[in-house]
Amino acid sequence: MTKSELSKYKHVLEAEQAELLHLVRNREGIAIEKSPDAFDEVQHATERELAIRNLDRESNLLRNVRGALRRIEDGSFGVCLHCEEDIGLKRLAAVPWAAFCIQCQEIADRSQGGGAGSLDEWLVNAA
Ligand SMILES: [Zn+2]
Repeated sequence: MTKSELSKYKHVLEAEQAELLHLVRNREGIAIEKSPDAFDEVQHATERELAIRNLDRESNLLRNVRGALRRIEDGSFGVCLHCEEDIGLKRLAAVPWAAFCIQCQEIADRSQGGGAGSLDEWLVNAA
């Protein structure tokens, strides 16, 4: 990968990171908000649940984005963490924080039964 391609990805990832940080901070506010009113409390419980689910997803994504930025720094960006093959440019264009090539990602998704489990967990199990 060329230097200018790398800096393009870095740009995209940094923007994504900033946006996610913003979202995660806002959600933390909703997730801990308490209401003294019982009716509000029910409403809040639903909102909280949703906020926590989104927060979960966004924190995961944020972790992936940070990992990708770290890989840009240490020069391993664009290489599959599992099989060490190059990740396709098309895949990187769609998912700049991809840590795995499409084949390894599919295996990971399958082994998770389509759930939103963490890839770290999968890596530990696959090791
Ligand atoms: Zn791979």
